[in-house]
Amino acid sequence: MVHLDAYQREPIEAQYDPRVREIVVMAVEQTGKSSIWRWPMAHRMLFRPGPAWVIYESDEKAEDINAESFEPVLRSVPGLESQLNRLSATRRRYSLRNGAVLDFSGAGADITSKPRRDGVADELDRWPMTLSGIRQNLRNFRKRFRTYWAMGEGCLVIVSSPRGEDSPVADEWQDTSRGTWHLRCAGCAGLTMPSHAVHLLQWEASEDGAVVADSLRLECPACGREHSESEASAMTASGGYVHDAPERWDRRGYQWGALAAVPRVFSWRDIARAQLQAGKSADVTTQADFDNSWRGLRFRPRRVQRESVDLIRQHCAPLPDPAILAQVLFAADTQDDGWYWVVRGVDQRRCTYLLGYGKAMKDDDLMAAWDASYLGIQPAMGLIDQGGHGERPKQVTALVAKHRGLYSYKGNPRIGQRWMISKTDQSLILANPGQFQADLLYYLYSQPRRDSAYLFLPPDPSQEYVDHMAALCPDNKLKHGDRYENWHSTAPDHWFDAERMWLVLMEYAMKHCRQWRLPMPGTQAQRVETRRPGVEVI
Ligand SMILES: [Zn+2]
Repeated sequence: MVHLDAYQREPIEAQYDPRVREIVVMAVEQTGKSSIWRWPMAHRMLFRPGPAWVIYESDEKAEDINAESFEPVLRSVPGLESQLNRLSATRRRYSLRNGAVLDFSGAGADITSKPRRDGVADELDRWPMTLSGIRQNLRNFRKRFRTYWAMGEGCLVIVSSPRGEDSPVADEWQDTSRGTWHLRCAGCAGLTMPSHAVHLLQWEASEDGAVVADSLRLECPACGREHSESEASAMTASGGYVHDAPERWDRRGYQWGALAAVPRVFSWRDIARAQLQAGKSADVTTQADFDNSWRGLRFRPRRVQRESVDLIRQHCAPLPDPAILAQVLFAADTQDDGWYWVVRGVDQRRCTYLLGYGKAMKDDDLMAAWDASYLGIQPAMGLIDQGGHGERPKQVTALVAKHRGLYSYKGNPRIGQRWMISKTDQSLILANPGQFQADLLYYLYSQPRRDSAYLFLPPDPSQEYVDHMAALCPDNKLKHGDRYENWHSTAPDHWFDAERMWLVLMEYAMKHCRQWRLPMPGTQAQRVETRRPGVEVI
């Protein structure tokens, strides 16, 4: 027998509804997203054979996923088992005697122009390409279904856990009926609790801040009924989808968060702990990860509405005691007329402190800033933008080659990851500028906690520095122009760029730097006070 959770039923049934052409499933990982399409796909291969296509996140993985996950499903469908000896040995194509053909490929592979009736875009947000590449590939894939769709047949299923803030599956889901799985209240009997509303979970903390397990309760926002975890299974089993746009039948959307999968996958304690962890750390990736992995939603940093310049000045504080600094790093933005540089120290809580900044006209001036001491500490590593014009890239490469601990930087939105070391040059770090821009804006405008990952400024930074930091604004001409990665510059922003590159170097250091002034949580640091730390490239 097939075990299905209550929240899996409606998206499966919708694939048989003649009105439905596309289904978008956005949900937390490991909660049975793939079952939503595997069972109907196997069922239709047997009873309604037609051409179908599944795109997995990668070509290499397609065969493994099929061997491990899809073939057992096929083998468990009575009637299909006997036809399985006809399956292709490569598991890239299953074709049955009854005419059913199912092809598999990885994202980015050529898509045949032959029409398909049914299709699946699996783990959309993990396709290994840029966000615009993912969207373009999905558009091309969608074209393959037009012929059948014109006849009122076929269904494309898009499935993914959301990633980050700019999430393709979240955008796709937005343009659907937008159904969210709600738990049913045992008091008022209403569908009152979205399974992503993990804040409805309440608990008492012990003296050391841990979750007291038997204090956990889920409170209905409508009637106030407090539920205990022993009721969790019944609450989700009797739950249902609440659709924002129930009349949208052509595109149905389904979303669920961790509360839907209690107790089969998660316990309330798991969710409470994750919430507590995310609350403790103000780090942007932890926050994004919590929204993505536990709520099953795109990351939405809250924005504080105040004048940018005032908000930036709120980051001012006395300089730190140098004894707390675990590392001091240097970053410089390259312009045609010189360099804008910053020096920032980081403590063991990931709070960072601007210790120096300036403008260097000549490379000697820049190297003087690199060699200087800040609160008695010399920067251990530095990152310099290659620059785009004339002699600059060559000049920067020469500086980097001459000075141990210096790296060059090049922005590249097409690398499909946050940052990477260049394959041809070990001292060149490539990074996705939009991603780090979003991070820096988050630290400037959304992160209020001064005890963790806070970005500190000195007591009285120059107006010019503050203006550069405040130069970015939401872009009202873009569809998602309010998202941090889409903000655009309205004034000179070179120190903003230098600070953004500093964040890139910090991530690089966390991974590769082996020698820190103090043990650094999250690294394998040893306490060694040297100017140039050992860097080991993994
Ligand atoms: Zn209630």
